[in-house]
Amino acid sequence: MSIVGFRGQGTAPTGGCGVTRSIKEALDQAVNTLRNQDDARLDSEVLLAFVLDRSRSHLHAWPEAGLDAEQLRRFEQLIAERARGRPVAHLTGRREFWSLDLEITTDTLIPRPETELLVEQALALLPAQQNLRIADLGTGSGAIAIALAKERKAWSLCALDRSLACCRVAQRNAQRLGLYNIDVVNADWCDALAASCLDAILCNPPYVADRDPHLQRGDLRYEPRSALASGTGGLDAISRLAADTARVLKKGAWLFLEHGYDQSQDVYKLLNNKGFTNISCIRDLAGIERVTRARKPA
Ligand code: GLN
Repeated sequence: MSIVGFRGQGTAPTGGCGVTRSIKEALDQAVNTLRNQDDARLDSEVLLAFVLDRSRSHLHAWPEAGLDAEQLRRFEQLIAERARGRPVAHLTGRREFWSLDLEITTDTLIPRPETELLVEQALALLPAQQNLRIADLGTGSGAIAIALAKERKAWSLCALDRSLACCRVAQRNAQRLGLYNIDVVNADWCDALAASCLDAILCNPPYVADRDPHLQRGDLRYEPRSALASGTGGLDAISRLAADTARVLKKGAWLFLEHGYDQSQDVYKLLNNKGFTNISCIRDLAGIERVTRARKPA
């Protein structure tokens, strides 16, 4: 009589009927394969949860449950790709942002947790009940606009990107999450926007210097260069945005910009030169100067 390891029932596999390895054994082996990378265990868990179409907590609850041969084959293939450097978000086609499950492709930036600070700032500063018109410039997967559309049903979001492929991803994400207070527009920065039409703008622009060695490391190697790098000092996009956003914001409207850890002084000067007021920089959870907010004079 063969003994079957029943998935989801905590039964340890003991061979037969295609059961090849327990969750715990598969994870331990994957962590060992990825031992030279940061986040080896987290990445292994995310990838195994993806293969099994279960949550990470399922893995912790049922460590002795068995994987069948096909699941093990797929998992080992993903771990091998991860070992070669492919980002987890590209392997799963998914990344969580603001507790929302977003589709990600190689056309989009992979949303970072620190970008949630932009969302927090807008939610804290702008009136929740008014029908504000708010744009997310260079939206990528739509992360920022979608988080705001989800939190504030009274606001009208416009998510813009010059990449049509990104617009399609952002549109799919908004639709899948059932959000209707968001328009996706295929346009470069503010080019499609009328003068003085917006109550707020949020933007996570490219801000890494073209020759920054970080671009050759980790996930950044696989992400679109146009979403990361911006000229020799990394400030080309922000410099253009300082001018263009001043045109399309209403009087008294707010701009929220993400930037690099050492750019707050430069960003201050660029915005100050374009007449912005109330300019202040906010630190992220790691204590890094990450977001600058500024107001067009009333
Ligand atoms: N925060 C990203 C990084 O340094 C860069 C994202 C961006 O340029 N907007 O990895």
